[in-house]
Amino acid sequence: MSDSVGLLVALLALLLGLAAGKAWERYKLSAGRWIDRRRARESPRYLLGLNLLVSNQLDLAIKELDTAAGFDADALEIQLILGNLYREKGQVTRAIQLHQQLLQRSKLTRKEQAYVLLCLGLDFKRGGFVDRALETLTEVLRIDGANQQALSNLQKLHEEQQQWQEACVIRQRLAALAEPAERPRHQAILAFLETRLGLQAMQRDDPAEAVSRYEAAIALDHRAVPAYLNLGDLQRGEGRMDEAVATWEKVVDVAPDRAYLILDRVEGASRGQEDAARFPALCRRLIDANPQDWRARLALGRHLADRGEPSAALDLLFESLVHNPHALAVHQVMWQALAALRFDEPRVRRYMELTRGAVFYLDPHVCMRCRYRSTELLWQCPQCHEWNTFVEERITPAEED
Ligand SMILES: [Zn+2]
Repeated sequence: MSDSVGLLVALLALLLGLAAGKAWERYKLSAGRWIDRRRARESPRYLLGLNLLVSNQLDLAIKELDTAAGFDADALEIQLILGNLYREKGQVTRAIQLHQQLLQRSKLTRKEQAYVLLCLGLDFKRGGFVDRALETLTEVLRIDGANQQALSNLQKLHEEQQQWQEACVIRQRLAALAEPAERPRHQAILAFLETRLGLQAMQRDDPAEAVSRYEAAIALDHRAVPAYLNLGDLQRGEGRMDEAVATWEKVVDVAPDRAYLILDRVEGASRGQEDAARFPALCRRLIDANPQDWRARLALGRHLADRGEPSAALDLLFESLVHNPHALAVHQVMWQALAALRFDEPRVRRYMELTRGAVFYLDPHVCMRCRYRSTELLWQCPQCHEWNTFVEERITPAEED
């Protein structure tokens, strides 16, 4: 009996202790007054600030959150958000100062410490202080080795410095953390990085290393188009034309939408070879696989025009123009062929009909992530640094009915 009373007393004491602890956590003594720590987060200013943040009104959000922070200078999350807002507004020095002050606090948990360091690392990155950003983000990983934001920002920093090897190591860590369904995306990025390492090896005049990098890229992602292109270019440079063409032609199977990148290469290589049918056959294969392919038609049209077959060339070029009336190259080859036919009137008329509704425009390649525009296909976006995000934008005539 006395045993159970003792147990009850002990339990009660424990509960009281917990409640006191909770109260201590919630309230604190500040300047002789008890302050409710939750008040700052529950204040309408804080909520208004968050709402303004969501609607992207950064200046107003800063103002409201600044006031909310005034209720309780200890509220870590408000200070963190404020610091991040300063960074986004480009007030990097202010963001750095705020985040550095937060780091000085003695009662930060390891998780909080890692998060403040991450924010600080992003401040340094934004301000262009590359070394300090690298240092700070590495510090985050010492505390929390699985911090994906720190890892992906570190990778971008290395990429900006063209430190492809370091970027590779970081991306491998990200890949190891990823769900199985996400693996292919990581493999594809690793393949791009391996390809960059191959190009770097070529600059050092180390073709053996370059070959093994390109092959590693293809092993990681069999759709790694730039790896096939560069490997073929390397083989061509060493005079191994058959191998080069065979390597390039693999692109047709693995990534038919990018196959046009091999057209000029294969045509150039087959010019010196016996096999005159190889290039036209390749173009026909591409056109059959994708009836909208205007580039293969242009390439074959140009090939035929150069070989003194302007009439056959024009048939293909007209078809090419239907699928992309804005390609200047099509117009140029077309006039070359028309001139060879002494401006045959029915064909000139057909040309005029086809081009009547066309609007000329530049920069047809667009980054799907940040809308950056480019005249040529880029494998990595110079603005958002994402890999393989470019698509070709085309204006097609509005359908009438
Ligand atoms: Zn982009």
